[in-house]
Amino acid sequence: MVKVDYLQNITSLAKRRGFIFPSSEIYGGFAAVYDYGHYGTLLKNNIRDAWWRAMVQLRDDVVGLDSAIFMHPTTWKASGHVDSFDDPQVDCKKCKSRWRADHILEQFGISADKQPIEFLNAELDKLRQDKKLKCANCGSTDLTQAKRFSLMVKSNLGSPTDALSEENAVYLRPETCGGIYLEYKNTLDATRVKLPFGIAQVGKAFRNEIVARQFIFRTREFEQMEMQYFLHPSMMKEKYEEWKQVRWNWYLEYGMGEDIIRWYEHEKLAHYASEAYDIEYNFKALGGFKEVEGIHARGDWDLSQHSKFSGQDLSYTDSQSGEKFIPHIIETSAGLNRLVFMFLDYAYCEEGEGEEKRTVLKFDKRLSPIKAAVFPLLKNKPELVAKAREIYDMLKLEFMCEFDDNGNIGKRYRRQDEIGTPYCVTVDFDSLEKGDVTVRDRDTMAQERVKISALSDYFRDFL
Ligand code: ATP
Repeated sequence: MVKVDYLQNITSLAKRRGFIFPSSEIYGGFAAVYDYGHYGTLLKNNIRDAWWRAMVQLRDDVVGLDSAIFMHPTTWKASGHVDSFDDPQVDCKKCKSRWRADHILEQFGISADKQPIEFLNAELDKLRQDKKLKCANCGSTDLTQAKRFSLMVKSNLGSPTDALSEENAVYLRPETCGGIYLEYKNTLDATRVKLPFGIAQVGKAFRNEIVARQFIFRTREFEQMEMQYFLHPSMMKEKYEEWKQVRWNWYLEYGMGEDIIRWYEHEKLAHYASEAYDIEYNFKALGGFKEVEGIHARGDWDLSQHSKFSGQDLSYTDSQSGEKFIPHIIETSAGLNRLVFMFLDYAYCEEGEGEEKRTVLKFDKRLSPIKAAVFPLLKNKPELVAKAREIYDMLKLEFMCEFDDNGNIGKRYRRQDEIGTPYCVTVDFDSLEKGDVTVRDRDTMAQERVKISALSDYFRDFL
């Protein structure tokens, strides 16, 4: 049996069908940055909206925020990012490829996450002595020692372009939660929330990643969907378990089976954290389980640090007991682009043989970029085209739809399968007489006749 190269196939489908393009291609490309085309944008927005619905709309205890990408530079000193948000870099002296030391060690089964550089170099030396350390690109054994490489991205915002010195550098946020901590007090004062409560936001983050080779899995510009839940420390255990369950169930709700997602427990915790688990998804395209979301118990570190560095009192006073304390935090942090990749990877299927062969994206129907495509059976019959247009104009008021009269019906089905459209509606001569149309289901390819007047209800039931 021919082995399917899922990474290659998904990447090329994503480009060919207008989901995701490599950035700045006409100038030769710009590594680890991607642009989202029409269908990619729709898919990404649907995933974002599904998250927002579950995390904000359906909850009484979480409110929203959209904080700025640029923040006061002291934010990142207080959070420790300026001093220690870095990854260990190893270079191949021969071909100049860059690698992450922790990733190299993990391939040899050595747990290297968040380990000090001395530990990493000692382990790399052992591999070197055993002649096992090689560049995965060119095979050379001439690799450098590991050194710290800061992931912070700097800008000169507010200063002249030629004056990017250490004192006047501002940073593009490396994670969205920084904005949540800084707006915790304003949110508390301006909304009617009481502890425990959460603040959720979706937005861009920037990291100068050392290596970014796996399509949109790890990019230098990406979006996060983060929620920070503020609470009294006595509630931490109970609420942490609750949030783990909430986030796990969200993946199940959107089609993931218990066999393709799993928990990964961090052995090495940041000094302020009491528990940290990731949800990992088994990527066909990456050949194994990889992190898509982290759920972390962060103690009172964040607000204490911002209190200390800003001189502002960020404590909370319980209105009933009068107790004053710095709230502890549970964080749920998912990568939106990584979830786009996950849903693409999950949905991607190649089915059938010969003439019957098709590639289909079997997204959960609610996440599909286009919900229904409307076709006239024949392009050169004005009465069919007019009826199909009329149905399209009706449906588009409620659903993201597409009108297509190019090529034969078989070709149109294939195209819609490749962008994951759950329903195709074909208008034929019977439609003009009897007022019904053929609705074809993406997954089963079954067709049924549905009254035009009942179409909206029909889709609403499924979507
Ligand atoms: P990693 O160990 O893979 O570098 P991390 O543990 O540093 O990731 P977090 O800081 O916990 O990641 O970020 C939370 C989420 O944000 C991740 O689960 C991931 O989905 C997403 N994310 C982090 N970095 C990137 C990136 N460079 N590109 C795309 N998504 C990212």
